[in-house]
Amino acid sequence: MMTGVVYDDDFTVHGCLWDENYSESPQRFTSILQRCNSLGLIDRCVKIDARPATREELLSKHTIEHVDLLKSTQDLHDEELLENISSEYDSIYLHPFTYKQCLLAAGSSIELAKAVADGRVINGMAIVRPPGHHAMKSEYCGYCFFNNVAIAAQYLLDKTTVRKILIVDWDIHHGQATQQMFYDDPRVLYFSIHRYEHGQFWPNLRESDFDHVGHGNGTGFNVNVPLNKTAMKNDDYMAITHYLLIPLAIEFSPDFIIISSGYDSAIGDPKGEMLVTPACYAHITQKLMNLTHGKIISILEGGYYLKSLAEGAALTLRALLGDPCPVIDSLRQPCDSVMETIRSVIHVHAMYWDCFKYSILYSEILPEIRYDFVVEKSTEKSKIIYQTRNMYSKIDTKRLDTILNNIITDTRLFNPPIRMGLIIETVEHSITNTEHSDVYEYLKSHVGHLHILNERQSTIKELNLAHSTKHIEYMIQMNQQKYTNDNNYFESIENNLALNTFRYFVGSLLQIIDSIFESKIRSGIYVKLPVEDSAKDLCFLNASVISAKYAIQKYKLKRILIIELNEDISQLHYDDQILVISVQRILNGLSLENKNITALWSKEILNDADFTTMMLHLILPIAYEYNPELIIMSTKFDLNMNTISGIQITPIIYGHLTQWLSTLANGKLMVCEQKVNSYSIYRKECLLECSKALLGIPISKLCVKKQLNLETKQILHNNIKRHIKNWKSLQLNINKLVE
Ligand SMILES: [Zn+2]
Repeated sequence: MMTGVVYDDDFTVHGCLWDENYSESPQRFTSILQRCNSLGLIDRCVKIDARPATREELLSKHTIEHVDLLKSTQDLHDEELLENISSEYDSIYLHPFTYKQCLLAAGSSIELAKAVADGRVINGMAIVRPPGHHAMKSEYCGYCFFNNVAIAAQYLLDKTTVRKILIVDWDIHHGQATQQMFYDDPRVLYFSIHRYEHGQFWPNLRESDFDHVGHGNGTGFNVNVPLNKTAMKNDDYMAITHYLLIPLAIEFSPDFIIISSGYDSAIGDPKGEMLVTPACYAHITQKLMNLTHGKIISILEGGYYLKSLAEGAALTLRALLGDPCPVIDSLRQPCDSVMETIRSVIHVHAMYWDCFKYSILYSEILPEIRYDFVVEKSTEKSKIIYQTRNMYSKIDTKRLDTILNNIITDTRLFNPPIRMGLIIETVEHSITNTEHSDVYEYLKSHVGHLHILNERQSTIKELNLAHSTKHIEYMIQMNQQKYTNDNNYFESIENNLALNTFRYFVGSLLQIIDSIFESKIRSGIYVKLPVEDSAKDLCFLNASVISAKYAIQKYKLKRILIIELNEDISQLHYDDQILVISVQRILNGLSLENKNITALWSKEILNDADFTTMMLHLILPIAYEYNPELIIMSTKFDLNMNTISGIQITPIIYGHLTQWLSTLANGKLMVCEQKVNSYSIYRKECLLECSKALLGIPISKLCVKKQLNLETKQILHNNIKRHIKNWKSLQLNINKLVE
């Protein structure tokens, strides 16, 4: 499936005739297109034809007067008159081509939305201007004339099978017009992150605060995340993503996501004054991409520092194309101000959404509402005359350019030709037999072509990276005694059959790691055969740890994350360069703690909602703080069918875990699946969801309806409490609120 892109040369015509420094300029469009082209992104997309919006389409969101007034300006060539009309509106300039270009921006947004809804493309980006999210029903405002995003959303609701839309507005300004247009409509959830400063930041509206939650049937479907300080960083935006946006999006379960993509929240923007790096937009985008079977589009809004605008937009498009997210700096704890906002949002929305009602961050304490903007009272009764020129002085971007250039150079874009390599163990260890295995056939029938890698046998020396020969010999002997009562017989270590099989297991993992670090593949899956004979099951040797040590030694890695599902190895292999997060049920008492993480629970059954909550509030924040260079996911899917393990999660969960984790480490992720002793369809489905996630094929939707409860909150609370001292990202002042 391809990514669509819509743009047109005509998007460079509308410009301010009387002020060359006006920030909403044609260069905004050209700089984005240039950067996307220089990264070769446009050529990889399907070009969607731009077209003007029809009158009917415009009237779905604007009044006749609103449309006609703009239409009437298209023949005006009198600059003074144009400026006079412009001065009746807040932050507006008119150009004789404005009307036509606005038609094109709205129509192109619709065409892209339609192409995704029809399935012609999977997702896409509209590089359009002027922006739209301040364009109200009958008032031009903030460089906007027609509300492109709202018109496209309304089109989807009216003309396609799309029933529920999530609009994510990350432009630094509040899209008050989009909010107004869907304020009582429960089919559209409007989620906006914007600079607010208790009303002191433009558009200075009381309605931009968190307590404006929607009206009538739409109550609870308007979510404002006001930022009351400047200089907010990736840490703050990712906290909003993990604690507010994603839980809400999962519960709302939209069919379609539209991003109101403004890059004035990016570092260097003179209006936003925030510090979000361009790569952060790729991370937010890819977090959202798996929630709607991939149906997501990004429509350009603001962004006025050309370098960060172009880079942010290009990295968003790159994320939509499925390329690995660029690595961002380790995340630390979000600032106090953003945490206060997050708590306020959770407080006011707790009565509408279970994810907030049972959120670890929920507090009974009433949030403070502050509105500091003082409207200057005009003494005269005449109309307000808005400024139309000299609003912006030419800024010297030299210093900023250096910072941005450094960020761009440091953001190493990694994109190997093959997304996923697969090794399936066969009895004969031959690639031909792999293609006849039932797992291979199952996966192939669902995802198409698969790239198969050869099995290889590891050397004893490679095993020695984690276990000494003496230890291996001793353990093999112990194992034989346990199962055969044969104390005397022992083959040489080289000829030991059980060890030979194990060496194929380890060797194949090393094969995947080599292919990843030689930039041949991005990620890999290894599927092991079951060990029928317990005497030959060398489970005391840990293949994940050996692989991690191999990667540390050969590729000089410093941070490897091992996610161990269903097995606790956290006590066994403490290593500064390896972090193990194990997820397991514990029946009696707690295990000892070191820096490794054990996500524990004693609940009878762990469901999808519990697991998702743990991913978003524990595993992902820690993983983002640790910032691994390689992720190894060690799984035994079949154990989940076992009632003793107590997990009753669906295979879909593994797809989401894989997809979310692979936004880290440039997507360098290896799944190591060990068959226990059954051939279940569940296991195949788990492998399928992981494969889809790694191949960029849309994964199934998560459904957590009515699964969240106080027990979920308690599990999370206990886990966070146990690890809080080691991880800054968990230090969110939870204790005093929960207890
Ligand atoms: Zn903006």
